[in-house]
Parts: sequence; structure tokens; C-alpha cells
Amino acid sequence: MSTLSSDQIAKAIDVTCDTVIANEKYFSDLDGLAGDGDFGTSLATGFKVIKKELPEIDKSAVGAMLLKISMICSKHVGGSSGPIWGTGFMRAGMASKGLEEVTYEQLTEMLGSAIEGIVARGGAKRGDKTLLDALWPIHEKMQEMDGSDLGAVLAAVAAEADKAIDETRSAVAHRGRASQVGERSANTPDPGIVGVATILKDWCAHYGVDFVPQAAELKR
Ligand SMILES: [Mg+2]
Repeated sequence: MSTLSSDQIAKAIDVTCDTVIANEKYFSDLDGLAGDGDFGTSLATGFKVIKKELPEIDKSAVGAMLLKISMICSKHVGGSSGPIWGTGFMRAGMASKGLEEVTYEQLTEMLGSAIEGIVARGGAKRGDKTLLDALWPIHEKMQEMDGSDLGAVLAAVAAEADKAIDETRSAVAHRGRASQVGERSANTPDPGIVGVATILKDWCAHYGVDFVPQAAELKR
């Protein structure tokens, strides 16, 4: 069974920072179609701090590192995204408390805990057109697979997030700021789902995993 070290997880977070920072304007533009247009900037503001502090963060335990990142998110990620991403990292950190490395099973449980926390925080349901509509199918796919080939898992979950963009595109948002504009959110992609899918697409590129995107937002 393959395991992931704290340093390997830190590297994936660093790649995530680059994605979020590079897409700041694009994610905000997407949010502007149905929301208040702050998503890209809110996220990038926090991830710029993570990128800067990551080399100094103690990586001797996975959980402690993720809790530190959670605190940066809560403090520096703006808008409604701060509590959501902060809660996700906090719950993943609690689920990996004291571990120097995590098994695939533990990684899957960490995502499950993060999802539970985000649900408890925001009360979103399936089909409400939030980033959870990407995270739920990713978690289910991880539970189905045995994790013996992490590249295969990454390709599979990237495809799930990609699919979620088009599956929710025509839905009207029921949670978050986009819900306040009701029908105006129909036929626009959810920026949070596009964000998750873009992060996974970039992980595939970074780790040399073949992935052919389908949604227009990933084919830029
Ligand atoms: Mg917004």
C-alpha cells in the first residue's frame, strides 16, 4: 500500500497555491457571472500567504501542518470561501493528527472528514451547485478504488471533478452568494467546482498523469 509523507502532501499544497494564484482573475471572472466576482481574489489572497509560509511550516506531522494551513485559510481567505476551505483543512488535519505519513485509506478518510465539516458549516445538499458537488463524487471514487496506483486515482478523481462542472452547469445555485441571484446562476459553471477541477488537472500535469479534460473551463 502506498503512503504519502508530510513533505509529499506539502508539495501538492504548493502546486495548489500556484494554480490558485495563476487563476485569480479567471476564477473571479467566473464568479462574476452569477455571484459577486470575488472568488478568485478571496482564494488567491489566502494561498499567497500559504505559499510564502509553507517552507517554514513544521512538516513533522501531517495533521499539525494541515491545521496550520487551516488557520491561514480562516484568517486570509476572504468572503464565504475562508470558513469553507479553513474548515476543510481543519477537519483533514484532525483526521490525520499525529501521523507522519498517511495511507490511502487515511487520505480517503481525511477527505470524508473535510466534507463532513464543510457540510456542517454551510448546510449544502447534493445538487446545490457548490464545490461539494465535486468533492462528494471524488470521495466516492476514492472509496471504490484500492489506492495501489495513486496516478490512476488522480486521473479518476480529476475526471469526476471535470464531469461535475457540466453536470451542475444548468442547475440554479441554492447555497452561497450565487443563490441570491437565483435564475441568473443557471447555465454558468460553479467557480468552486471549476476551482477543484483545475487544481486536480494541474496535479495531473505536475505528476505526469494523463488526463484529457472535457469541460470548456478546463480546456483553456
Ligand atoms: Mg463570490
